[in-house]
Amino acid sequence: MRETGTPRRIGLLGGTFDPVHIGHLRGALEVSEMVGLDEVRLVPNFRPPHREAPNSSAQDRLTMVRLAVQDLPPLTVDARELERDKPSYTLDTLESLRAELNDDDQIFLIVGWDAFCGLPTWHRWDELLDHCHILVMQRPDADSEPPEALRDLLAARSVNDPLTIAGSSGQIAFVWQAPLGVSATRIRHFLASGRSVRFLVPDAVLAYINAHGLYRASN
Ligand code: ATP
Repeated sequence: MRETGTPRRIGLLGGTFDPVHIGHLRGALEVSEMVGLDEVRLVPNFRPPHREAPNSSAQDRLTMVRLAVQDLPPLTVDARELERDKPSYTLDTLESLRAELNDDDQIFLIVGWDAFCGLPTWHRWDELLDHCHILVMQRPDADSEPPEALRDLLAARSVNDPLTIAGSSGQIAFVWQAPLGVSATRIRHFLASGRSVRFLVPDAVLAYINAHGLYRASN
């Protein structure tokens, strides 16, 4: 646990980042600025090796995320889920991070609207808010009806203004973002068909993809 001081506000954005792209980076930066976070950690998820698609290894995904956030505070990388070499539940990640922080530090789990709607399928999902707040990245064009299973939770835990979130955990807020029509799937398809992905990923990530021949159709 850290020394006592001003409570920190830490965002966590999990994903496969295969590869990391401007949608992730803009999303993380915008949330960070809107909510006033000290740090947003990008947390690459462990993913079992996949045969049929030209996906990249955990090491390549991690290296690309590191390249993407270098010299880009407040974005950082947290590699703990890859270090375990097996799938981690978000709850495990939250518990292990919590153990490193002060009791009054705030953790903000950042999830897209789609991921949030799937929350009831997550391992021990009803305990997530014991460890963190949840910030839902909502888009003006997204379906705004939450599933039935989340209605009570939203009624009890959501606040209108993310800036009013208080305490170390337990609340939910929405942050509204202009949509960026980019996905890792699209980037992989572009690369597999020999098209350019310039400006969809940071230049350093593009240089790494090219140097290692990632996502080519023959991989
Ligand atoms: P894939 O296409 O392989 O499914 P992805 O582009 O959706 O990948 P992930 O690594 O699965 O990327 O996403 C991690 C997180 O980033 C998720 O919470 C997701 O909602 C968010 N995210 C992905 N793309 C965007 C985008 N264009 N704008 C904002 N957030 C995004």
